[in-house]
Amino acid sequence: MRRKLLEILACPVCKSDLEVEVHEENEEEIISGKLRCKKCNVEYPIEEGIPNMLPPELRT
Ligand SMILES: [Zn+2]
Repeated sequence: MRRKLLEILACPVCKSDLEVEVHEENEEEIISGKLRCKKCNVEYPIEEGIPNMLPPELRT
């Protein structure tokens, strides 16, 4: 995902801002890492450049 996307992504649970923890990235994109909600602390994994924004109860 492009870093720019962070500006428009919000926690699907509480609509708060997300912070990102980058594990792997290139010049353009975050390849892997995770997004974390500052408010409710839910984490959303980024895998192969794609953020998984499903709430935890819908992931399995
Ligand atoms: Zn939240």
